[in-house]
Amino acid sequence: MGFSTDAIHVGQEPDPATGAIIVPIYQTSTYVQEELGKNKGYEYARTANPTRSALERNLACLENGAYAYAFASGMAAINVLMTLLKAGDHVVASQNLYGGSFRLFERVLKDFGLNFSYANTSRLDEVERMIQPRTRLLYVETPTNPVMEITDIAAAASLAHSRGLLLAVDNTFMSPYFQRPLELGADFVLHSTTKYLNGHSDGVGGVIVLNDQAIAERLKFLQNAAGAILGPFDCWLILRGVKTLAVRMRQHDANGRAIAQFLASHPKVRKVHYPGLPTHAQHELARRQMKGFGGMIAFDTGSLENAKAVLRSVRLCSLAESLGGVETLISHPATMTHASVPAEDRERLGITEGLVRISAGIEDVEDLIADLDQALGRISS
Ligand SMILES: *Cc1c(COP(=O)(O)O)cnc(C)c1O
Repeated sequence: MGFSTDAIHVGQEPDPATGAIIVPIYQTSTYVQEELGKNKGYEYARTANPTRSALERNLACLENGAYAYAFASGMAAINVLMTLLKAGDHVVASQNLYGGSFRLFERVLKDFGLNFSYANTSRLDEVERMIQPRTRLLYVETPTNPVMEITDIAAAASLAHSRGLLLAVDNTFMSPYFQRPLELGADFVLHSTTKYLNGHSDGVGGVIVLNDQAIAERLKFLQNAAGAILGPFDCWLILRGVKTLAVRMRQHDANGRAIAQFLASHPKVRKVHYPGLPTHAQHELARRQMKGFGGMIAFDTGSLENAKAVLRSVRLCSLAESLGGVETLISHPATMTHASVPAEDRERLGITEGLVRISAGIEDVEDLIADLDQALGRISS
């Protein structure tokens, strides 16, 4: 079936008890057993909940994987993924990771004996040089936040597998509608469902999708053992959100392209980071690997003063962290999402003081462009 048909129907069959067309929110902690050792497949709601099972089946299908596990947040999903490893193991990760992932690796997991190296994963020779005897995992985010660098997932999978590593891809920025890493050879796909999968900025969650049965058994064990599960109401919100994922992503993409083009031709804008622009260094790879370019754009206003002027002047775009919702958000990576990254590292990664990030929503794009135009007009120099 097509993507939207799956999004609307897989895991979301009418409720067998009542015919309700919408999967019920099974707000329960436990399940009554008919007799000792005889239950209906559910015993305790940390282990399994029907609303969560519905979501997990749905998201596994959308990523073209066999198994999915839903967690209380994107970070909870990433944390559980890392607990597949053992003290002494080593991970090569993208150098410009989501700040929370970097913080988890450096300030939590290091204390438990995991070791991390950071590479520009868009350059696989750099990745290869960092592989050590105990390297188990290559952990990639593509495109990166906020400068939208792309890693070739198929090539990364070949390299990882030739050296006995597993490949995990954080697919939050593209969603399965535009990019399906498992089809390109990745072993794990992760999402912060908080972003595009939910899509309405009203819930936090995370998911891991994979194909390997033995590893899936272990992840299911860890989900129950560590217990950072997603609650039934949040599962229900994501089930509701994914039904419109395709139409939303098409509009995020259309708005993203139009805004990127507008910014690229604006005299006050120095540089625009958007994989859909022919000027993007990896535009060809992006076209090959992704079915669209999405709604994430970063642009350089030249200085902190200019960035502040734009952020102060926007009226429709909301100044906020996060992304992937129907409403357009605008933010300042250097002082917000990437404030904990040392200044010289930020400079090296292209996260300048004048850089502004936009998560293009699905409003009428003329209104968004008019808002950005009047805000850019406030830049004095
Ligand atoms: C938001 C985000 C996360 C973390 O997800 P939470 O749901 O906020 O815990 C991880 N990776 C990326 C790329 C993100 O944007």
